[in-house]
Amino acid sequence: MAFDVDFFVIGAGSGGVRAARIAAGHGAKTIVAEESRIGGTCVIRGCVPKKLYVYASRFADDFADAAGFGWRVGETSFDWPSLVAAKEKEITRLSAAYRANLAASGAALIEERATIVGPQRVRLASGKEFSARHILISVGSRPTHLPGVEGLEHAITSNEVFDLPVFPRRLLVIGGGYIAVEFASLFQRLGSHVTQVLRAPNVLRGFDDDMRASVRDAMARAGVTLRFGCLPMRIERLADGALRVTLSDFAAIEVDQVLMATGRRPYTKGLGLETAGATLSAHGAIKVDENLTSEVPSIHAVGDVTHRVNLTPVAVREGHALADRLFGPGAKPIRYDTIASVVFGTPELGAVGLTEAEAVERFPSVDVYRTDFRPMKATLSGSAERTIMKLVVDGATQRIVGAHLLACDAGEMIQLVAVAMTIGATKADFDATMAVHPTAAEELVTMRRPTARYEDGKRIS
Ligand SMILES: Cc1cc2nc3c(=O)[nH]c(=O)nc-3n(C[C@H](O)[C@H](O)[C@H](O)COP(=O)(O)OP(=O)(O)OC[C@H]3O[C@@H](n4cnc5c(N)ncnc54)[C@H](O)[C@@H]3O)c2cc1C
Repeated sequence: MAFDVDFFVIGAGSGGVRAARIAAGHGAKTIVAEESRIGGTCVIRGCVPKKLYVYASRFADDFADAAGFGWRVGETSFDWPSLVAAKEKEITRLSAAYRANLAASGAALIEERATIVGPQRVRLASGKEFSARHILISVGSRPTHLPGVEGLEHAITSNEVFDLPVFPRRLLVIGGGYIAVEFASLFQRLGSHVTQVLRAPNVLRGFDDDMRASVRDAMARAGVTLRFGCLPMRIERLADGALRVTLSDFAAIEVDQVLMATGRRPYTKGLGLETAGATLSAHGAIKVDENLTSEVPSIHAVGDVTHRVNLTPVAVREGHALADRLFGPGAKPIRYDTIASVVFGTPELGAVGLTEAEAVERFPSVDVYRTDFRPMKATLSGSAERTIMKLVVDGATQRIVGAHLLACDAGEMIQLVAVAMTIGATKADFDATMAVHPTAAEELVTMRRPTARYEDGKRIS
């Protein structure tokens, strides 16, 4: 049977653009449909603008630290509209680069919403239909709102926060995941009074408990007011434009903006998957097998819409692998066990592999190496910042199975630890590696004695 195209990609974000480019490069007739700006969440309203704002926020620390090094910094001020405009220029440039790369690969771009009307049929918002040998769903995810909050329409999400017309002098962040922590940390540094409210007893569920406690302390030191174990009940707009938020412990807080960072959900609503026979998880995710193919053999999915590891490099790698498998030489299985992730607070938290608690559950014997020290820069700046590093080692094989770094530039360091773990590095390999001095990273190869040892789930030293 002849199809209009070999490959129809829905969504020009991280995963979709990579899949389309690689497929077109293999000679597949490829179309990508995008309903919003080219580049997706990461480029337009995620990783990229977030990191630019994190950079902006850290000047506050630099100005404060400078005096200890002999600098006299005059009065400083921060202009939010200038940052928003500079960010906009950069993401516009990046989006154009994505567009140009797609065109150069030979993939065609259609800037319209697309839905599925059959296992091998797609309909555009304009009504035009295409038959496709393979369809890729790379539509990403959307922020979710907490249910049951009165006045929810007054709250914003990460989609709106980057372009607020007025800088929020008082910001309430709801949620405790990495996006909530990053926005709380950066807005506090830019000059907001940030209150962070979360249901859990600590931030960053899923990360190493030790590091979670240290991130919480660093945020409190930066001035963020943290309120654990409560939720917003009601948000009201006051006559002066401010928002009054009543919490579940009946406290009321007045703020200028309420940022809901309470999770994301695959963007599958109204996509028409049911017409093709694909089923969704309770969370709305498309179920795929190890080849990234759904229950319908012609429909595939990569990235956030599968709700497994919701990170840009994962979406990109999955898109690449899928295109290689469908139209190219085939693809090696993707390694999901050494994916590093970073929380871009200040300092950064980098993590890869198992937490201490997970390792203790999984292995009969575990050695933990931990160091906690004042970073060199803080000796002159007077900052109270701490650097904490932890290596989690399988006692039997001595392989490093987890690494957790709370440090300036931990994101840069953890990438390289992930390489070592991917090739199966042992503690002895780290020990045999010469240190780079004077750095914080040298501590990774100079931790001599375990600070904790576990046998059969029990701590023995
Ligand atoms: C605030 C924030 C910060 C983040 N920071 C990081 C980070 O530091 N590091 C990291 O690795 N990840 C980060 N992420 C996560 C990262 O952005 C996502 O994992 C990644 O973008 C997922 O890529 P994707 O291709 O699955 O989807 P997306 O990049 O979201 O792309 C999906 C695209 O599909 C389009 N679309 C949806 N439905 C349709 C339709 N029916 N028709 C046509 N087009 C459609 C959308 O408009 C969108 O452009 C962050 C996310 C957020 C929200």
